[in-house]
Amino acid sequence: MKTKTNELKCNTNVEIAGFIEKIRDQKNMQFIILRDLYGAVQITVDKSKCTSLLSVTEKLSINSFVIIKGEVVENSYVKLGGKEIIPSEIIIESIADTLPIDEESNIDQKLDYRWIDLRQPKNALMMKVQTLFTHSVRNFLYERDFVEMHSPKIISQPSESGSDLFTLDYFGEKAYLTQSPQFYKQMAIASGLEKIFEVGPVFRAEKSFTSRHATEFTGIDLEIANMHNVEDIMKFEEEMLTYALEKVKEKFGEEIKQYFGIELTIPTLPFPRIEMKTAVEILQDLDFDIEFGEDFSTEQEKALGEYLIRKNGHEFYFITDYPAEIRAFYHMKDEKGLTAKGYDLYWKGIEITTGAIREHRYDILLAQAIERGNSQKKLQFYLDFFKYGCPAHGGFGIGLDRITMLLLGIPTIKESMFIFRGPTRIKP
Ligand code: ATP
Repeated sequence: MKTKTNELKCNTNVEIAGFIEKIRDQKNMQFIILRDLYGAVQITVDKSKCTSLLSVTEKLSINSFVIIKGEVVENSYVKLGGKEIIPSEIIIESIADTLPIDEESNIDQKLDYRWIDLRQPKNALMMKVQTLFTHSVRNFLYERDFVEMHSPKIISQPSESGSDLFTLDYFGEKAYLTQSPQFYKQMAIASGLEKIFEVGPVFRAEKSFTSRHATEFTGIDLEIANMHNVEDIMKFEEEMLTYALEKVKEKFGEEIKQYFGIELTIPTLPFPRIEMKTAVEILQDLDFDIEFGEDFSTEQEKALGEYLIRKNGHEFYFITDYPAEIRAFYHMKDEKGLTAKGYDLYWKGIEITTGAIREHRYDILLAQAIERGNSQKKLQFYLDFFKYGCPAHGGFGIGLDRITMLLLGIPTIKESMFIFRGPTRIKP
């Protein structure tokens, strides 16, 4: 096993492996900085003493991958942790060509060579933070008896409107890529699984060129049986998010500050809640042309976010009580039949979640589907989930890459995911 660069002990012989980050060549000495996932270390080659290594070191280029065997020694002059490695052997695993990107490259050039871009410690940190966030969410759910599902991504009927669907040919039949695991989460509830979640890919054929939309992203979706009150869903979500953010701050708070220049704020509970009606009034007071019943434009969302964050001193807020007709047909309506029992959650002015109590009563669900122009025939397979007994339930869906973007203050989702997919990007 190779020793990690953050676990090097002085006066021991080690074998390490990594990319060459820098080479400084002097008349008598050569200094090589090697980086692995855990950090970086200086390799010091005394040309007069290590003559046998010179035929190897002269071939090295930046980003070549090498294995180095040698002794770790203390040297207070070395900036990287006050130690260096005096090599006895250098094995070249792979020589790197001149790199096609550097710090000056624009984002599209960087995305073309994403694997090289990801070698930057800042980007590796983004991946580690995303891992821990997801792991913490999983832990939180596992502790509460949730069951994980892996629902199909190739489907015959979409759960949302048809406009943002990728279609594909399925042995001569038309099929789609899922825009959400919604129907299957609800099927799992009808299956008696009670508490269900999935972390998986979500596809949206939206020609959106914003900083927060991707055509493929990772969704964290969950659904809970025996939920009647949307307040209980919101409470569950705010506790889950706060728990996961605490875990991230505990482990990576300092590094996040160092590489991204931001202090991660752990939100206080409860998050502020605001009704859609009040949000519309605020926007009207801010001179926006909006009526109750219309959805927010991006500009309105932004202005509302700035106002609420300033007023509440809180980065998060739920917007609740949307008019039923602008929400999905499967959201349960309130007793008057006007308002959907659902919410959107915003962080730093950007939507991160839609949640709701779902309609589980077959006849009402069917009526709501038809009222919204859906064909019963097409939806029958879904409606059948509610025909043979089903508990009341509710849940939500979070965009993981949006959370990562906001958590680290990254300006665009393109850089807050492993590989970005957008309307004009399908490589690498
Ligand atoms: P938006 O209005 O921002 O396009 P939406 O209302 O379509 O989002 P939902 O269908 O409710 O979003 O999806 C649940 C969550 O998934 C969103 O709150 C967001 O975090 C994330 N999400 C939705 N669309 C995208 C996308 N195109 N790229 C990345 N994340 C997304």
